[in-house]
Amino acid sequence: MHQSKSAIICGGGIVGLVCAYYLAREGCRVTLVEREGEDRDHCALGSAGYISPSHVIPLSSPGMVWQGLKWMMNPRSPFYIKPRFDSDLMRWGWLFWRACSHRHLKCAAPIIRDLCLGGRRLFEELDDITGDTFELQKHGLLNLCKTQEGLDHEAHGLARIANQLGIEARVLDARQTAELEPGTRLDVAGSVYFPVDAHLTPWRFVNALTVLLKEMGVRFQWNTTIFGWRATGGRIAAVQTTAGDLIADEFVLAGGSWSPAMLTGLGLRLPMQAGKGYSLTLPKPRFKLTRALMLTERRIAVTPMGDTLRFGGTMELSGINHDIRPERVRQIIESVPHYFPEFTEADFAGIKPWAGLRPVSPDGLPYIGRFNHYGNLTAACGHAMLGLTMAPITGLLVAEILAGRKPSVDLTLLSPNRYA
Ligand SMILES: Cc1cc2nc3c(=O)[nH]c(=O)nc-3n(C[C@H](O)[C@H](O)[C@H](O)COP(=O)(O)OP(=O)(O)OC[C@H]3O[C@@H](n4cnc5c(N)ncnc54)[C@H](O)[C@@H]3O)c2cc1C
Repeated sequence: MHQSKSAIICGGGIVGLVCAYYLAREGCRVTLVEREGEDRDHCALGSAGYISPSHVIPLSSPGMVWQGLKWMMNPRSPFYIKPRFDSDLMRWGWLFWRACSHRHLKCAAPIIRDLCLGGRRLFEELDDITGDTFELQKHGLLNLCKTQEGLDHEAHGLARIANQLGIEARVLDARQTAELEPGTRLDVAGSVYFPVDAHLTPWRFVNALTVLLKEMGVRFQWNTTIFGWRATGGRIAAVQTTAGDLIADEFVLAGGSWSPAMLTGLGLRLPMQAGKGYSLTLPKPRFKLTRALMLTERRIAVTPMGDTLRFGGTMELSGINHDIRPERVRQIIESVPHYFPEFTEADFAGIKPWAGLRPVSPDGLPYIGRFNHYGNLTAACGHAMLGLTMAPITGLLVAEILAGRKPSVDLTLLSPNRYA
């Protein structure tokens, strides 16, 4: 990339930070604009910390519409849509329904695999570069199944598709599962083990990356809100912010769930819903785990992070807000003793729930690529449940796009113009 090229990253979540890294590495002069301060909360911080190539099936997959409708009847289900009249939600729902097809699954799953495996590989590089600072654990993921029915479903569904795509998935019975986690008592029929998966401690990663970015000369514009754009002749001239108009050669949209709102005034459409999730982190859990686990039937992630243990889950489409709905948090707490008989609800007493908003596109694929109408505006958003996993490969792809090189993953299905 030409030495003098400048880029503004719009949004300082995990995706914005990693885009800043790969652009700075290319020799680009990078400014990251973030409306909160450096000590901000953002979606990756309370996440489950999975780096999960095993998650090859997009959220919009065959059967999901009926599954979603069934879940909505059950207050303890992992999924909730707040009933409301909202034209964006209705359009998103229609696009989601269209994407729940075998045809889409066949096209999308290999791309998701490539993005996740790319992310996994780049995390290893970043781990070396930052000196092993973010507790990257490469022990795989166990999808625990409480019932034989759940295990059969997982074996014939996700495990079969993952193996077909070259992601190793081993179906284990209860004894084999217990052997992998000898430090705790599990009440399960078995599990599916994905050896390639990994996990990390998100706040440590964010801190290590921020230090690295400062050393590389990335400029941080904290407490600066983006509210508009100046555009002429099919190009963005400046982004309008509370700190004045900021000029650059290139602009990267990395605003997570706020990305569609950030596009205000440009006449661009980016269907997206905020998918709220919650997590609870126990500072002194009663046992230690080696691997990250998924409580499959309840869709709850369990991740050891240093001495702590995090439980995260639920997908709630209730608009852009961080309101805590106690019944959704209870869904997590009540699920845990079903799989870990030694756990009681009292283990969670006094633990403050965290909430974050996943940026969810209707087809389960992120938006990565240039916008047709503005030659110097590139999307890097909409990663839903895989934003941490895919952040590094997204950053690399954005750097490749801006440098005019051939992207290392096929971007056709990821185009931000696909719903224009
Ligand atoms: C409970 C839970 C568990 C999860 N677990 C995992 C996991 O295990 N593995 C995984 O891969 N993913 C996981 N995810 C998903 C992942 O956390 C997200 O996909 C990812 O963090 C999204 O990052 P982002 O940078 O796109 O968005 P965000 O983190 O939302 O960042 C967007 C940033 O833009 C800023 N911004 C917004 N508007 C403006 C404006 N107008 N001006 C300036 N700045 C603005 C915001 O302040 C924010 O900092 C999980 C999510 C949740 C909720």
